[in-house]
Amino acid sequence: MSDTRLSQRVNNMEESATLKMTQMARDLAAEGHQVISLSIGEPDFDTPDHIKQAAIQALNDGHTKYTPVPGTMDLRKSIVKKFKEDNNLAFQPNQIVVSNGAKQSLANLALALLDEGDEVILFAPYWVSYKEIVKLGGGTPIEIKATIDQDFKVNPTQLANALTDKTKMLIFSSPCNPTGSVYTAEELAALVQVLKDYPRVVVVSDEIYEFINFTDRHMSIGTFDEVKDRTVTVNGFSKGFAMTGWRLGYMGAPAWIASACTKIQGQVTSGANSFGQKAAAYALGASRESAEIMCKAFLSRRDIVIDLCKRIPGFKVNKPTGAFYVFPDVSSFFGKSANGSVIKDANDFAQYILHEAHVSLVSGSAFGADECVRISYAASEDQLREALERIRKAAGKIQ
Ligand code: PMP
Ligand code: GLU
Repeated sequence: MSDTRLSQRVNNMEESATLKMTQMARDLAAEGHQVISLSIGEPDFDTPDHIKQAAIQALNDGHTKYTPVPGTMDLRKSIVKKFKEDNNLAFQPNQIVVSNGAKQSLANLALALLDEGDEVILFAPYWVSYKEIVKLGGGTPIEIKATIDQDFKVNPTQLANALTDKTKMLIFSSPCNPTGSVYTAEELAALVQVLKDYPRVVVVSDEIYEFINFTDRHMSIGTFDEVKDRTVTVNGFSKGFAMTGWRLGYMGAPAWIASACTKIQGQVTSGANSFGQKAAAYALGASRESAEIMCKAFLSRRDIVIDLCKRIPGFKVNKPTGAFYVFPDVSSFFGKSANGSVIKDANDFAQYILHEAHVSLVSGSAFGADECVRISYAASEDQLREALERIRKAAGKIQ
């Protein structure tokens, strides 16, 4: 709803659909319903205890003051090491900016790089906030749509057709939220061949699901020579370390971009929280066993969810290879009715499932895919089985 007292900026902005659906689920639960929330992309695991202890230690040691805007040197050095060892990406500490979540890293980039009229290519399905963050920065989102039949992965021809002399940036995630797709080295190499002819385009590679990858390796597009000097690799602690509430994300970027982002952050929020950064630096150097355990659990849940989705007539699923989402095509239900109302689109479908089955999903329209819904399987196996059974029954009533 637009309000003339507000800026056009906010009036033109969509509310985050993931957060909105999650709030609707909470409200319904507060009314006493047994709601299963599969709408938020958040590990259901707690932050590993040894990381919590590092934060407690940092507090006890008095790390309670402002930190440098781009992050403590200690953490930035740990991130440099991580990028080198895990991703074969070479950065110096002045190329790292730590922010209040990867969401802020993306907002910093949009504000630092975009002017009115600049085009930003988004690989659709894309994560909800990309589009609104681009608009906030004054850019024009250009969506390239990858369908379920292409495993939701954009191909080089599609990319070539979307690039223009106005393209300033490209943003994509691999492993992808909301599809769980992972680009292979060969697929990335083919995209890089197209980008080679557009040297002005900054590539933003969102790798926040790096550690939730069921393929044999995670590949960063920034390792390709043709784009390495203009790729920004965004990552964070929310997913792989189950630290969503800590609000810690970061980027590795060309120095001119990193210093511009630091300038913006210095006027808006300053450095991220001090004791969290201490714990984050510790986490990067510590054992990754918890992440491996989480990843295994997600893999077994993926298989359960896919199997159960396949048993729901009208659901079309592919096999995601990372993150913790399944993104079924539910368009076969559109135009049919349930409880006297027509289900016109994925929004109606998600609302129907919420009210009929008390399971919250997110409509694909928020991710640039009107025919799908997102199921987050960051929930226990029992909850997932129960939720999918409820969805199957509710979907069966649509005629
Ligand atoms: N990118 C993607 C693809 C995400 O799913 C998320 C999840 N919130 C973010 C960025 C932002 O993560 P955070 O701000 O929690 O670091
Ligand atoms: N990234 C998560 C999701 O997609 C968390 C919610 C949000 O920040 O949008 O659900």
